[in-house]
Amino acid sequence: MNTTTTIASPLSLPPLPYSESALEPVISGRTVGFHYGKHHRAYVENANRLIIRTEFADIPLERIVLATADNADRANIFNNAAQAWNHAFYWRGLKPKGGGEPPAPLKEKMEAAFGSVEACKKELSNIAIGHFGSGWAWLVSDGISLKVMKTSNADNPLTKGLAPLLTIDVWEHAYYLDYQNKRADYVDAMIDKLVNWDFAADNLSKASDSVRR
Ligand code: FE
Repeated sequence: MNTTTTIASPLSLPPLPYSESALEPVISGRTVGFHYGKHHRAYVENANRLIIRTEFADIPLERIVLATADNADRANIFNNAAQAWNHAFYWRGLKPKGGGEPPAPLKEKMEAAFGSVEACKKELSNIAIGHFGSGWAWLVSDGISLKVMKTSNADNPLTKGLAPLLTIDVWEHAYYLDYQNKRADYVDAMIDKLVNWDFAADNLSKASDSVRR
């Protein structure tokens, strides 16, 4: 599957931070090939098609998401731009041989908010498994504490003024080829074996910096 073609400006499909098969056996190369090479790419291409010659051309993706949120007239742009943002964030939150112990500053925040790292992971898992329909589960910072939350379809925590640290894609395209209807098996294997806690800790550090400014 060709996933290396560069998409014309203004928005681009960010390269995967690893090979398509690097997340095996938890997520197959076939799933990543379709998910990144077809679904993620389509959101970027659709967003580009929709923003051309509008006031959203040539502004950063995150600003397009914020500027089109909760605006029924811009729902099509929002859905594709937010899905482009969410997927880029999702890929960076995973890594081969991930999981394990979060870095100390993140671990302390998880313990303060949930009681333990295990309890935080369990709440994230529960919210991902229990979400009805298509959407996302998130670990977020509200500037003071950490929370888990879910969003439907393309929505994300940026639109609520929250800082995302990590996300789990629970659209069926994220897991159906590998796990069929067993979403819980995908979610738990991902949290245990693929989560990139360094990425989540970096996001926490950036969120804390922006609160201090
Ligand atoms: Fe997806």
